[in-house]
Amino acid sequence: FPIIRAQISQDYIPDSKFYKVEAILRPWRIQQVSSALLKMGIRGVTISDVRGFGAQGGSAERQAGSEFSEDNFVAKVKIEIVVSKDQVEAVIEKIIDEARTGEIGDGKIFLIPVSDVIRVRTGERGEKAERMTGGRSDMFFSTGSSTA
Ligand code: ATP
Ligand code: GLN
Repeated sequence: FPIIRAQISQDYIPDSKFYKVEAILRPWRIQQVSSALLKMGIRGVTISDVRGFGAQGGSAERQAGSEFSEDNFVAKVKIEIVVSKDQVEAVIEKIIDEARTGEIGDGKIFLIPVSDVIRVRTGERGEKAERMTGGRSDMFFSTGSSTA
């Protein structure tokens, strides 16, 4: 059956230059997701171990929590990626491609506008702080500059 794609819409509300793509996924799919993101020039990624409750409830993936019989939270991994607006749909699509099994518990993706990005080391803000060495600018252009 057809895989449901993220809708191609850039009419995000509120409008922002940067967005955080926050995905709650199956822990055993994270390696696959992060290496696919790396291949498409995404260099900044944050991961946390989380526990959650969704339609999956406490069923399946119980092995780690079976001793807590009244605890229905399922172990998940949260992946957070701040990108510029024009990268959002590609990142969402890649996450779906790599994380989807089709079974209940595949996870959910939230899209959050980000007001600013500040690089602590340099104090840079906005685009300069969001651009990363080895990121998109290095992959698509061969100018040698990763901050332009
Ligand atoms: P620097 O050039 O000073 O190293 P940087 O932009 O590469 O700055 P880091 O200081 O290396 O940033 O990043 C620290 C942590 O911040 C990373 O380990 C990652 O968890 C998180 N991070 C950085 N950029 C992003 C991003 N765009 N999205 C999500 N997390 C990020
Ligand atoms: N937008 C950044 C770039 O083009 C990458 C952001 C990220 O890696 N999360 O370099």
